[in-house]
Amino acid sequence: MKTWIKDIVNKVDEVVPLAGWVANRRDHGKLIFIDLRDRSGVCQVVFGPWSGEEIYAQAQKLRSEWVIQIQGLIKKRPENMVNADLPTGTVEVDVKELTIINESQTPPFPLEGDGYEIDEEARMKYKYLDLRRDRLQKNLALRHRVIKFIRDYLDTEGFYEVETPILTKSTPEGARDYVVPSRLYTGSFYALPQSPQQYKQLLMASGVEKYFQIARCFRDEDTRGDRQPEFTQMDLEMSFVEREDVMRLNEQLLITLVQTLLPEKKIQQIPFPRITYKEAMEKYGTDRPDMRENKEDKNLLAFCWVIDFPFFERVDDPSTGSGQEGWTFTHNPFSQPKPEHLTWLMQKEKIGEILTTQYDVALNGFEIGGGSIRAHNPQVLTTVFEIMGYQSETIQKNFGHMLEAFSYGTPSHGGIAWGLDRLLAILQNEPNIREVIPFPKTGDARDLMMSAPSELDPKQLQELHIEIHTKKV
Ligand code: ASP
Repeated sequence: MKTWIKDIVNKVDEVVPLAGWVANRRDHGKLIFIDLRDRSGVCQVVFGPWSGEEIYAQAQKLRSEWVIQIQGLIKKRPENMVNADLPTGTVEVDVKELTIINESQTPPFPLEGDGYEIDEEARMKYKYLDLRRDRLQKNLALRHRVIKFIRDYLDTEGFYEVETPILTKSTPEGARDYVVPSRLYTGSFYALPQSPQQYKQLLMASGVEKYFQIARCFRDEDTRGDRQPEFTQMDLEMSFVEREDVMRLNEQLLITLVQTLLPEKKIQQIPFPRITYKEAMEKYGTDRPDMRENKEDKNLLAFCWVIDFPFFERVDDPSTGSGQEGWTFTHNPFSQPKPEHLTWLMQKEKIGEILTTQYDVALNGFEIGGGSIRAHNPQVLTTVFEIMGYQSETIQKNFGHMLEAFSYGTPSHGGIAWGLDRLLAILQNEPNIREVIPFPKTGDARDLMMSAPSELDPKQLQELHIEIHTKKV
């Protein structure tokens, strides 16, 4: 088993096994220096005539990104040779044995540096190379630590992580679904979940009481800003709670997470300020205000809650195509209205004035999460769909399972989902979520490394009962 490079500073005068990639090679006459890199760090490795003829000859062949394994003596560097920029700069490695594990072509772009200046499509095509760079390794590490922290924290709070299906039925989150054709049921399709919304509510009907999931969500949206066709939510739902309970738990989780994992960050205001949707729009012109007092400070985190959103907004009714106006939900059709507006909802009056129990959490001008207390009474949910103009047949067909579940003793419940990629991007001061997603897609939904989406074999299409008609131009 090899030794992590970061640990060699504690192994002076020991011979240890190291393995990794040649970050670069410098020839100085008889001396050859390489920087050897593994996931944990970089160290200087020295070859000279004393290394022996065979090792020295092999060292001359080494090039960037070759993978090698060595047995190396860790030597303390003389005071004047210490490299203060390198965590392992107090030592260097004298090679006793060298094995070349694999050679490498010259990488299509440099792997040193942060890489922002490199064409992003090239970085995506060779993502496995791009990920070798220090910045992206750090992003992967933080992602891992944040997810682990969430899991441990919520476990202590009594939550179960429950996996919910990926092959499922369309959910109304306001975006287009990705669909998967069924081979066994000609003409039928699964939909990939836009979020686990319905399943998590059904888990409350199942008596789970406290659920969370690091959940992948899929939304087939046209290129719109910094979106990804698939992204990750920290999804959570709790039974027997009020708005205050969900907000308090999430606020505490965010604060503890930041203070534990990123102690250099400063949270501007604790408890997080709260602002109504109306105030936010009037004062900031947006429902995700940037409340930072100093926007230059890279370590300042200004969280805030936005509450009291309108439940419905007006839309052109697409089902009639008549341009006639109808209503749609602003956030989540499964929400419960604010208690004082329940009567309006049930009587379908003052629809534009009904406020929902929705709460959003914003950070530095981005929405990083949102949720609500849900309707658990079938009549309330039915009325929401009626206001949106759904016929009872459609309601039964699409949401009959929810209404039925609610008729079997479903507890009151509420929850939230965080956009985990967005949160990580802000915590890492990254300009977009693609930098914190291990294998992101392009803005127009392509995976350049795998060349997806791609065509299917005629045989596969036949099995799926699908014929492709390409438009003749
Ligand atoms: N499912 C919602 C969403 O994806 C979040 C929630 O209300 O829990 O936006």
